[in-house]
Amino acid sequence: MNTDNTNSPSASTRYIFVTGGVASSLGKGVIASTMGRLLQNRGFDISIQKFDPYINVDPGTLNPNEHGECYVTIDGYEADLDLGHYERFTDIKTTRNNTYTTGRIYQEVIDRERRGEYGGHTVQVVPHITDAIKEMMLKPHPRTSPSEGEPSFVITEIGGTVGDIEGLPFLEAIRQLKWELGERAIVIHLAYVPYIAAAGELKTKPTQHSVKQLQSYGIQPDIIVLRSEHDLSESLRRKVANFCNVRPDCVFHSPDVPTIYALPPRMYEEGLCDAVLRLSDICPDSLPVTESHDRWHRFVDMRAALTDELHIGMVGKYNLQDAYKSITESLSIAGVYLGRKVRTHFINAEELTAGNVAERLTAPWVTETGTHPLAGFVICPGFGDRGIEGKIVAARYLREHNLPTLGICLGMQIMAIEFARTVLGHAEANSTEFNRTTPHPVIDMMEEQKHIAKLGGTMRLGGYDCELAPGSLAHTVYASERIVERHRHRYELNNDYAEALTAKGMNISGRNPQTGLAEIIEVPANRFYLGTQFHPEYGSTVLNPHPLFLGFLKAALNA
Ligand code: GLN
Repeated sequence: MNTDNTNSPSASTRYIFVTGGVASSLGKGVIASTMGRLLQNRGFDISIQKFDPYINVDPGTLNPNEHGECYVTIDGYEADLDLGHYERFTDIKTTRNNTYTTGRIYQEVIDRERRGEYGGHTVQVVPHITDAIKEMMLKPHPRTSPSEGEPSFVITEIGGTVGDIEGLPFLEAIRQLKWELGERAIVIHLAYVPYIAAAGELKTKPTQHSVKQLQSYGIQPDIIVLRSEHDLSESLRRKVANFCNVRPDCVFHSPDVPTIYALPPRMYEEGLCDAVLRLSDICPDSLPVTESHDRWHRFVDMRAALTDELHIGMVGKYNLQDAYKSITESLSIAGVYLGRKVRTHFINAEELTAGNVAERLTAPWVTETGTHPLAGFVICPGFGDRGIEGKIVAARYLREHNLPTLGICLGMQIMAIEFARTVLGHAEANSTEFNRTTPHPVIDMMEEQKHIAKLGGTMRLGGYDCELAPGSLAHTVYASERIVERHRHRYELNNDYAEALTAKGMNISGRNPQTGLAEIIEVPANRFYLGTQFHPEYGSTVLNPHPLFLGFLKAALNA
């Protein structure tokens, strides 16, 4: 560990940069995460981070329909959904220091300029922006315990595709770092090899061009990972190696896999980790795999062997594969541990009415494996009033028919509103998010948040303590009295209604011990009707499936 200057990189840490070429959506985040997992499986301590070229200061304001879900770190930073991959693969709890955007970097440089820190010099992209990028790429990466020192490897993913104008400062920073760090910097370039059906051929030209582009910026990749749906011959790999100036044993194939979690075993066999170790002057043979390697392989084998399916309805308003990414991944991971392949189906809350809800929620889904009724339901998180009444109609049906239901954040608020309307008889009960003048603000903004909201719309973000009521479903499921879960919301259950809700059968089974805010509600008369103000999905990983998703799916299995 570097002890004399905490702002400079550790002398022993190695830096792996992951860039992408040819096309977007090739799965750079998954390759970066895979790299992290493979190194961990050989006993290394790693850190992983993402640099995104877009101008938004953080992705918190991006529409999930356009950009996929907003992920939230334990320290309350609204981050790109790739950080979710990082956490699910590596079990590392990322923070605001694991993700930067162009906007955030410019903001930092402009703030420094305003404070006069550039001493009257003209502030420019090179060197000032690139220096700031380098500083953030190399900054110390805190470990779980300070005594653990700096990680052995830091993996840095660069968002976007090589050749994008906005990505240039990041590539220039990497060029300089490669020069400064020498062997301690490794560049992995991910490219695409298309198959031209008419010619019956795989084409390496786009890869060659994207590597040439990278070289024109002064960066020579050390490793090339080729994404292709087809097998790649030895001669094709040699050709890429030849044209791209890379050793033949440093060209790898990343195929289509049935699940992204099959990629670490696949890339292990391909020898990706060994190549990184050799480039780092570490003899791979001296490092046997660790227990996490075996656990990961077992997970992938279990998943491959699944035959029985479990179908879950997602009542929400964003119909995009990635909009509820962490929820669908948490369900799928928990399903593997319960021996079920979980398949989720989107139910558009905007279309639900009292007249069609029974049919929409109970109609079986026809897939290539047969006809499947839905065994459980998630009422999804969200903002704004679109689809709210449909979600309330769904909550009522699910509660009254004792169907396993998990409400997350807005979903939990919906459960409380519905209960107040139907059971407490407050027909106009609502959240002040949707009706400012409701006579029954069952969900409301707390006084201190009203103040914060005026300052710039800050939400309750990140990890908060929650104490679980003994004997509650939440307590049983977590098998713990105190938990920490992540939040992302402005509104809260209004404690003025707590007594009435409890008296009529909706218990508050989780509370924040410091503020008394309700974190979990449940209807004990039902098998599983539980809502959380927090987002359990952000805390679920492949090696550590989340107890709440396990509990929910168990209930769905027994439905
Ligand atoms: N819109 C709700 C709030 O701000 C819920 C947010 C969410 O579901 N993440 O409180």
